Amino acid sequence: MSIPRVLTVAGSDSGGGAGIQADLKTMLALGVHGMSVITAVTAQNSVGVQGAWELPVAAVRAQYRSVVDDIGVQAVKTGMLASAELVEAVAELISGTDAPAVVDPVGVSKHGDSLLAASALDSVRTKLLPVATVATPNLDEVIQLTGVRVESEDGLRRAAAAVLEYGPRWVLIKGGHLSGDAVDLLTDGSAEHWLRSPRHDNRHTHGTGCTLASAIASGLAKGLPVPEAAHAAKAYVTGAIAAGFALGAGIGPVDHGW
Ligand code: PLP
Repeated sequence: MSIPRVLTVAGSDSGGGAGIQADLKTMLALGVHGMSVITAVTAQNSVGVQGAWELPVAAVRAQYRSVVDDIGVQAVKTGMLASAELVEAVAELISGTDAPAVVDPVGVSKHGDSLLAASALDSVRTKLLPVATVATPNLDEVIQLTGVRVESEDGLRRAAAAVLEYGPRWVLIKGGHLSGDAVDLLTDGSAEHWLRSPRHDNRHTHGTGCTLASAIASGLAKGLPVPEAAHAAKAYVTGAIAAGFALGAGIGPVDHGW
């Protein structure tokens, strides 16, 4: 049997810490063949995003068709989609592909740089989330998408229920910004899986969200059920955060070689 193939549809981070670059490193580390549809190019480093340019919808469609029609995919992961037009095009492409999709509804970077136009939020809610096998919002993205503000572990259930209203099969709410252990909640509305890891006192966490979503997609491509893929991905990202290292003057990347 050939190697499992995973496609990331996301933005490029010139600094190599997040986005497409983090996705491909994760896929390499997890033993799947990584492929990329680039939606936007960012000029970015450890201190922030200095510029961002989205690609035309036709260029995104063409990359996607090139990969899917010849090579084929066992899982798709989406990240930075920049605009409503790109969100809608990618949602349509995913809905016509027979593979699970992990949707990381990327909104704002750790530095506060916007990676998604405010006008695209409604397309994420009504077009992209409904075609997701797993959606992986962090708490800021939960507020943007649903208005639900979470301040304790208990609130993760309310956040999950609000996101599930939009139709993803599963949601994994990343509670990493709460205090205490890094706790995430994975649920499909009936089963509940709490993913817990000790908090690592390391500020070099650039690329965490991209890495988690790509690791879940890699597990799904290998045939793991969603809960097993999520548990394995949490273990992977926890190791990558523990090994995160300084680069440049700001926030360094998680490490994929741990
Ligand atoms: N740049 C790109 C292209 C991304 O896709 C993302 C996150 O998804 C980021 C930057 C932000 O990464 P972080 O918030 O981990 O710094």
